[in-house]
Amino acid sequence: MKTSKPIQAEIVEFKCEECNQGVYRVDNSMDPLPNRWGHKCTNCGQQGYFPFAYPYIKYKNQQFVLEKHIVKVNPKPPYFI
Ligand SMILES: [Zn+2]
Repeated sequence: MKTSKPIQAEIVEFKCEECNQGVYRVDNSMDPLPNRWGHKCTNCGQQGYFPFAYPYIKYKNQQFVLEKHIVKVNPKPPYFI
């Protein structure tokens, strides 16, 4: 059974150091790199790769990546193809 309750969590952003105004967001149009997410600044368009998908949620010293940023693998085992 699924249950839920409100919690006090923090949202962690990565501020762009180029323009000091925007924040980085995952940009799926960028070429993938191993264990890195491609990001683009919301203000100036600066691109960068980070080991976390920003923004993420921090709760009790654990980091929670947004579900939409988890890279999906093919659910079919190879022997079914
Ligand atoms: Zn920027």
